[in-house]
Amino acid sequence: MKPVVAVIGRPNVGKSSLVNRILGRRDAIVEEKPGVTRDRVHYDASWQGSEFMLVDTGGLEFGPTDELAGKVGEVAYNAASTADVILFVCDATRPLTREDRDVADRLRRFASRVIVVANKIDAATHEDLAWELAELGLGNPVSVSALHGRGSGDLLDLVVERFPEDIEIPERPDLPRICIVGRPNVGKSSIFNAISNDARSIVHDMPGTTRDAVDSEVEIRGERVIFVDTAGLRHRPRIDESTEWYGLVRTMRAIDESDLAVLVVDDAEGISRQDLRIVDRILEAGCSCVIALNKIDLVEPEVRKVEIAEVRRRLPGLWHAPLVETSAVSGKGIKNLCESVLRVLAQRDFRFATSDLNNLLLDVQARTPIPAKKAGARVKYAAQVASSPPTIRLFGVGEKIPERWLRHLDKQIRRVYPFEGTPIRFLTGSGRKR
Ligand code: GDP
Repeated sequence: MKPVVAVIGRPNVGKSSLVNRILGRRDAIVEEKPGVTRDRVHYDASWQGSEFMLVDTGGLEFGPTDELAGKVGEVAYNAASTADVILFVCDATRPLTREDRDVADRLRRFASRVIVVANKIDAATHEDLAWELAELGLGNPVSVSALHGRGSGDLLDLVVERFPEDIEIPERPDLPRICIVGRPNVGKSSIFNAISNDARSIVHDMPGTTRDAVDSEVEIRGERVIFVDTAGLRHRPRIDESTEWYGLVRTMRAIDESDLAVLVVDDAEGISRQDLRIVDRILEAGCSCVIALNKIDLVEPEVRKVEIAEVRRRLPGLWHAPLVETSAVSGKGIKNLCESVLRVLAQRDFRFATSDLNNLLLDVQARTPIPAKKAGARVKYAAQVASSPPTIRLFGVGEKIPERWLRHLDKQIRRVYPFEGTPIRFLTGSGRKR
């Protein structure tokens, strides 16, 4: 099977030009497949000897309904969700629209496979325009001019680089993705098995994103979720305890692919440097987190209290994350852990009404003005530009907002809506991540 490249984007952003440009290259083979539907056209294409299937998803037609799901053409979205590489084409000469952001939100789950294409960059002097699109939170945009051919070779190089080595096209149900992370022997496998042995969960394997990974679909209390890269977690034979199945690289990759990470900590051992690196990655990746303090059966209750305080002290960035005490061997706390995971996932999708956010912002600034060199520095306007993870753009600040004040704002936002365990991203004027 050939790798699949899907081209997705609003009408008039230059998708067709890009498809023609890709197909029209000297060494591209063009062959329109008969019998395919009008709104989803497959072409055979190649670049530098790599053959692939190019899928023109047709325009994303936005229906009259105000529902997010109704707005994004399901056909296009499904095509994208099963592709190996998704080219999300935007018109860089125009301001981002609400639809662009909605598409970006829906593509976020596949972020590792998305390339944002900043089209209509006809000259090097317009390169700056592309950076606006970094705000979509889907990585650095690649600028091209589909019409004139500028940058299309570089884009194709990037596309080919992303092809999986061994082609399999896994089914990718649009379900929340969860990973279980932590040091070796803290009880990750035991917790996963305890969750999946729960009477009400149905587990089945499916191919993961990387060749040797296996993901598992599990039903927790009626909600279907996917546990990422469970090859090393499921019913692992205990023969080689020292084998580090879950190497750090693998852990980081699993975090990047997940919506939520369960960070397992051994109650008796506490937080290690490796845990701190994992937590940094969780926060950077915009992944939600639930902390499981495991092996409580081995620790006296008074000691547990001290240990909880210590974990909280060592992980200030996760102060808002639920901490659940578990014993994977007795099953104690597993129900609570499952409920916390589902609650955090549900909160992750919340979107603030712009008016509520701005009322909050007025209030916060009235009480605690931004400490700034110039008097009167203030945020004039804020909008939640994305969810999962919540991303809030602040407009109209003349200078850099101190981290301290952003942390204060973060706290105040969570008093209105908790976003338990989920990092909130702030974008300021330049569109750069803070
Ligand atoms: P992983 O390396 O993080 O996946 O850890 P495992 O799940 O393989 O567990 C490592 C060891 O700790 C095994 O011997 C488990 O039986 C044991 N273990 C896991 N959870 C608990 C627990 O809650 N209490 C106790 N007493 N032992 C546990």
